[in-house]
Amino acid sequence: MGQTLTEKILEDHLVEGELETGEEIGIEIDQVLTQDTTGTMVWLQFEAMGLDEVQTEIAAQYCDHQTYQFDFKNTDDHRFLRSAAGKYGAHFSRPGNGICHNVHRENFAAPGKTLLGSDSHTPTPGGLGELAIGAGGIDVTVAMGGAPYYIEMPEVVNVRLEGELPEWATAKDVILEMLRRLSVKGGVGKILEYTGPGVESLTAPERMTITNMGTELGATTSIFPTDEQTEDYLERVGRGDEYVELQPDDDAEYDDEIVVDLSDLEPLIAQPSMPDKVVPVREVAGQSVEQVIVGSCTNGGYEDILPVAKMLEGRETSMETETIVAPGSKQASEMLAREGWVAEMMAAGVNFSEATCGACIGIGHVPSSDSVSLRTFNRNFEGRSGIEDDNVYLCSPEVAAAAALKGEIIDPRDLADDLGDLEAPGIELPDEYTGSKTDLIGPDEAVDDELIKGPNIGDVPLKDQLGSDIEGEALLKMEDNITTDHIIPATQDILMYRSNVPKLSEFTLSRVDDTFAERALEADGGFLVAGENYGQGSSREHAALCPMYLGIEGVLAQSFARIHRANLFNFGIVPLTIDEDTYENIDQGDEIEIVDDVYDAVTSGQEEFTVRVNGDEYTAVLDASERERAILAAGGKLSWTKDQAEGAG
Ligand code: SF4
Repeated sequence: MGQTLTEKILEDHLVEGELETGEEIGIEIDQVLTQDTTGTMVWLQFEAMGLDEVQTEIAAQYCDHQTYQFDFKNTDDHRFLRSAAGKYGAHFSRPGNGICHNVHRENFAAPGKTLLGSDSHTPTPGGLGELAIGAGGIDVTVAMGGAPYYIEMPEVVNVRLEGELPEWATAKDVILEMLRRLSVKGGVGKILEYTGPGVESLTAPERMTITNMGTELGATTSIFPTDEQTEDYLERVGRGDEYVELQPDDDAEYDDEIVVDLSDLEPLIAQPSMPDKVVPVREVAGQSVEQVIVGSCTNGGYEDILPVAKMLEGRETSMETETIVAPGSKQASEMLAREGWVAEMMAAGVNFSEATCGACIGIGHVPSSDSVSLRTFNRNFEGRSGIEDDNVYLCSPEVAAAAALKGEIIDPRDLADDLGDLEAPGIELPDEYTGSKTDLIGPDEAVDDELIKGPNIGDVPLKDQLGSDIEGEALLKMEDNITTDHIIPATQDILMYRSNVPKLSEFTLSRVDDTFAERALEADGGFLVAGENYGQGSSREHAALCPMYLGIEGVLAQSFARIHRANLFNFGIVPLTIDEDTYENIDQGDEIEIVDDVYDAVTSGQEEFTVRVNGDEYTAVLDASERERAILAAGGKLSWTKDQAEGAG
């Protein structure tokens, strides 16, 4: 039987297990990336493991999420990250140089390689044939130290593209169509592999818009085969020698198939406040728009902004609409500036911004209350823009530019009819990506060779080996669908403490109960109780690390979100599944005791545990692989990895 492209790359990197759906496999990682809000903990953990040097082919540290310097805390973090990159042998991208995914694709992403990144949009270079996965920071730390990355083998789905995009329809509309059909849960446990005759009509940057936003489907990753388009892009970024041809076998077998005819697509838009609330632009046309932002890791490339510049050239944006262009990388800014496009856009009324995540996470350009903001980003969750009553729509750069000109939502085809002389700009790549590399410091050019820790840089808390007796109070009882944002919010005032766990922990679950952190510290041990889908959302490891710091030893939930469940193991917290009846019978403040010898039960593979609550006994289930049990028993992944290294050494 033939192989899918996913299987070929995985087999090339397989160090443990078999490529069977649902089986745990260990794969070798070639490249890692981290950004500033997850990177500090990655390097502190790297230091705590006693590792000397990065072992992957490429490790890259980007500063993109928090580039505005409010006070010493961000600059402390950035200086620490530069020093860690220098000391351990990673590339360092300075604040303002661009968003991790954009800078990575321009400089490092390569076909056939594996990439692990502590950011959920790490799958972006799947458009270049790289198998790229987002994970928790500690997983990235361990991979950077040379150990395999473990994952349950996902299903591989064939997304067959047919036809060619008509005028005014774009790559963004392809992924919006996928979201319209599959919803934000449609890709969970799956790798989406794009195939079919439609693939060759899409340039590599267009493919990367699609793979970037595969994350919104919940997919493990998305990947395209490589061909002339891939080679062409790599040549233009000056890395033509890294091209490798990669195709699935003709008789490859997939777990499922989805067919998208590109020629049927039209301009689409995701309505507030979920990326899968997708409708044709014409269905919501006519609403006035106060703000338009073009940028982010999804549509912040040179090729995304050029069509906007062409549409705005010689025209003026609406008086009612504030229009912002925030390129994804400084290279894109520099090229657009050298070619005169920045001046054209400014003359048309555009406010040109630094290359940063910024507005995507509510840092800068917060919309006015209850107003419509059109963005080319990938997420529009309620409140993400910086205010709770936001109305953020997601669309292509062309739809955004049309709204900037008209002052209201309009299908660009209709605007073209109105104006008479507006042509579809199409997609155009530069002959050569020429931006200077001043802000990307290679391991050979390192500025520092020792770690520099300012007062905002804390230590990594470590947990002891799992104990035999676990008992304590049900410190908090929560409903279904508690997100990592509930557990550790990502707002600007809190984000700056990501490298300072004692301080950050004060905000743990404050959105649910602002007395929780204090009570947990006082209790020195205890449980969290939750309904279904506990820990959904991002890969944020602080959502497990901070509860661990506060002394939480177990979480009893009806079900767990996949990445958060892994993070609980990684930080030595026992995740036990309970049924609805048990959930109903536990009240906040109840005393809970795990009757079994927990250490023995975990290490011997026992699945059912007896939990005593107010004298009554219930069954709770630990569903875990042998490796996950070993991590839990060691007190978390950091301790486990250290033990492994000592054992091997
Ligand atoms: Fe994440 Fe937005 Fe930055 Fe992309 S631009 S990496 S989605 S914060």
